[in-house]
Amino acid sequence: MADEKNDQVPDVEINPVFARGGEATAYPANRIPQGESLPETAYQVVHDQAMLDGNARLNLATFVSTWMDVQAKDLYVEAFDKNMVDKDEYPATAAVETRCVKMIAAMWNAADPDDTVGTSAIGSSEAAMLGGLAMKRKWRNARQAAGKPTDKPNLVMSSAVQVCWEKFCNYFEVEPRFVPISHKHKVLDGHELERYVDENTIGVVAIMGVTYTGMYEPVKEISAKLDEIQKDTGLDIPIHVDAASGGFIAPFCQPDLEWDFRVERVVSINTSGHKYGLVYPGLGWVVWRDKQSCPDDLIFYVSYLGGSEATLALNFSRPGAQVLLQYYLFLRLGVDGYTRVQSNSRDVAMFLAGEIGKMEQFELWNDGSDIPVFAWYLKPGVTKNWSLYDLADRLRLAGWLVPAYPMPNDLADLTVQRIVVRNGLSHDLATRLLEDVKKAVAFLEDLDGPMPRVAPTTPQFTH
Ligand SMILES: *Cc1c(COP(=O)(O)O)cnc(C)c1O
Repeated sequence: MADEKNDQVPDVEINPVFARGGEATAYPANRIPQGESLPETAYQVVHDQAMLDGNARLNLATFVSTWMDVQAKDLYVEAFDKNMVDKDEYPATAAVETRCVKMIAAMWNAADPDDTVGTSAIGSSEAAMLGGLAMKRKWRNARQAAGKPTDKPNLVMSSAVQVCWEKFCNYFEVEPRFVPISHKHKVLDGHELERYVDENTIGVVAIMGVTYTGMYEPVKEISAKLDEIQKDTGLDIPIHVDAASGGFIAPFCQPDLEWDFRVERVVSINTSGHKYGLVYPGLGWVVWRDKQSCPDDLIFYVSYLGGSEATLALNFSRPGAQVLLQYYLFLRLGVDGYTRVQSNSRDVAMFLAGEIGKMEQFELWNDGSDIPVFAWYLKPGVTKNWSLYDLADRLRLAGWLVPAYPMPNDLADLTVQRIVVRNGLSHDLATRLLEDVKKAVAFLEDLDGPMPRVAPTTPQFTH
């Protein structure tokens, strides 16, 4: 019997995965292979390639969730086949989306959460673009009604905006006007705003949680400055708040800070459900303060269940599972749970910032007390031969991803390093990280010459 079997073609079903003739080793890199593979072989190959990515939990560069509990995973597996756009087929998921929009509108203190318009999106980028488009359309409609030209819209924002705003301006042909940040004005704070706005300004973007550093922009001060400008010039300029990260921090950690719909000039707000909303990647939200703030001609009405559902999105099909996961978390955590989780991340961030700020080589840019994110830079003239890029490399050897990158425009000479504390970076892990930072700094300080390089280091910046 044994001999008979050996004479046959090798039985792939009993051969060990990594020892199967050709299968595991001969896939073309950039072409679809001609033949089929056994599922377990293909699985193993893909699994092994993904294994070469960094460890998501040690990735302190990203804002995006890397941990959810087991029930969330079960729910995800049950729901990953749902298409958000199929509101007819999945009316329950559509209804959950509507509930979430109202919950978020209420969280952001909308006067009447039931009168708001909003939608889920694939992330803050899509959500922000919808907010930008609505401002552009409102501005255009008003200009047309007044018989004025509409060919030169502009949008005013900090030079430290996330790239989605540069994309918005590029894709939708709006002139971006960047207000530079500086050591004195670390964020957009209204300073000299009158020099940037004019009759063609569709709006001002205020960021709750600047991506580069984690700092909040003072929405109320920006709004007060726009009030002054309106008094002087008659221009009534709306604010869109990019609260990609802060939208799920400020309501819980700084509930008295007025940055949301309590500020009248704020017409719309976006956030990332997949950042401090604590859902896995693929979820953003945008909400308008009331129905009037979102021009009706951007909304498509589709009928479902005998009713009419407003949809407003750049994408058509996209996963519905994340929306269910957001709803799960709202039920699972409630306000108290979100407060506990976010406060814990903030405590860890402030602890880490405090310790890193004590090290003689470093100066903190901020202390992690807004969103749980902080950045630091090298004190000029203190270190000998190393940069924050070298420190990032050394930390990478220990498994930690802690990016170093240049600040924007006028501050591009300044290199900072940033830590994003997310749910899952415990005090214990943070203490280990600190030990590794100290070890890496000691190593770099001990070098006689510049840090030898194996390969050139390129700045890395995960938004
Ligand atoms: C992350 C981020 C974005 C983009 O969000 P995505 O959800 O990744 O599309 C936009 N603005 C700010 C301030 C961000 O931090």
